[in-house]
Amino acid sequence: MASQLGIDKMIAYDDCFVAGISQRSQRILTKVSDFFNCRDSKAAPQQHILDFRKDLTRNTALQLRICQKNVALVNGEGRRMDAFDVPASSTSVEVKIIDVCTISNVPTKNLFTPQVPGFEKSPDCPSLVFLLEHPSGQKVLFDLGIRQDWENLSPAIVQRLKQNGYGVQVEAGIAEFLDRGGVGKENIDAVIWSHAHWDHTGDISTFDGETELVVGPGFKDHFLGDGKGNSTLGGVLPSDVDGRNVREITFDENDPSVLQIGQFSAFDYFQDGSLYLLDTPGHCVGHLCALVRTTTNPATFVFLGGDAAHHCGEVRPSEYMPMPEYITPNPLKREASDAPPLCAKPWYATLQSSRNRDPQGPLFQPAFGHDMDQVLDTIKKMQQYDGESNIIVILAHDSAFRAPIIPRFPMAINDWKASGLGDALKWKWISDVWQDGDDVEA
Ligand SMILES: [Zn+2]
Repeated sequence: MASQLGIDKMIAYDDCFVAGISQRSQRILTKVSDFFNCRDSKAAPQQHILDFRKDLTRNTALQLRICQKNVALVNGEGRRMDAFDVPASSTSVEVKIIDVCTISNVPTKNLFTPQVPGFEKSPDCPSLVFLLEHPSGQKVLFDLGIRQDWENLSPAIVQRLKQNGYGVQVEAGIAEFLDRGGVGKENIDAVIWSHAHWDHTGDISTFDGETELVVGPGFKDHFLGDGKGNSTLGGVLPSDVDGRNVREITFDENDPSVLQIGQFSAFDYFQDGSLYLLDTPGHCVGHLCALVRTTTNPATFVFLGGDAAHHCGEVRPSEYMPMPEYITPNPLKREASDAPPLCAKPWYATLQSSRNRDPQGPLFQPAFGHDMDQVLDTIKKMQQYDGESNIIVILAHDSAFRAPIIPRFPMAINDWKASGLGDALKWKWISDVWQDGDDVEA
């Protein structure tokens, strides 16, 4: 079995350390004691399951199982996908990132808490737009980013942005961008809004009336009608919906397209398992995430997170994605790509206890939301997806997705797993809060 997995042999150094030696002589070393808390209820009590997610041959996630002092290997690929009950599908959707908006000068305390000294301002961040291309020829957009003429947002929003001194830059409107890119705005069948905040709704009036607007549960009641849902954070302009079909996904359990994936209700958008919209309330009424199948064999997915969280430190680490003993590739900005793995655990434990936070839990808690209980619940459920080696979570404002290694439109991000992007980006957020000299203390 070991050779099938690209592992030549296992070495048990002693009671404390084990290592796997790959056919390419890469060595993975880990502390046994870090993995003794067994999460696998099916395991016999005398067995110690080691849930070990080190990069081995670039991106192969493995589990190491220590069983009655004998060391054996089992392939961990997709193991917990069973728990999600994602039906098999032979259809994937091309996912192309469009990154034309930048928000800057936002105080971190407005977004998440408690603060980390030295990280008072959020890095310049995108508001990502995703073009999803189905093999049938259907094309949909997930979010529209910021409208280029953002000063034509509602006066209350513009006033708040100016008063707060936020920087807003938009290189192009999305319709124009698609026209220039050869896609043609008239070929967009639908725009899905993760939610109706100013930095996600773009300007849908630049698409013709045939382009449907897809929104989440409660949207129509909250934002349409008397318009009471509009606020300084966002809302709906008449030009967004006049002459356009607004389709609200209600996640009605009697709808045959609705199923449960993980702990979220999911709507099978194309009815072939290639794109699921997920009911992820809290941040805003009707907030939606999306699970998009990027490859079919093996099954891999991108999880489009919208604003379910603003920073990956609101999601990681978690019980599903614990901070590894050594992080590779090294996520610090200043480090070269061949830098040694980062040992961040002692530093993180110190940082967390200095802020009365759980050393095994996420760095931050969201600072605001329409319903904070739901915000926290959605993050908890999202963490289960985040722990999957076959799923990559992309938050709309994650600046890590501006790294030069990220393929952008017209390139697709579908081979993210094979190209190692998941491992390269998972802990990138640490560089936001890591101070020079932290490694000395660690
Ligand atoms: Zn946002």
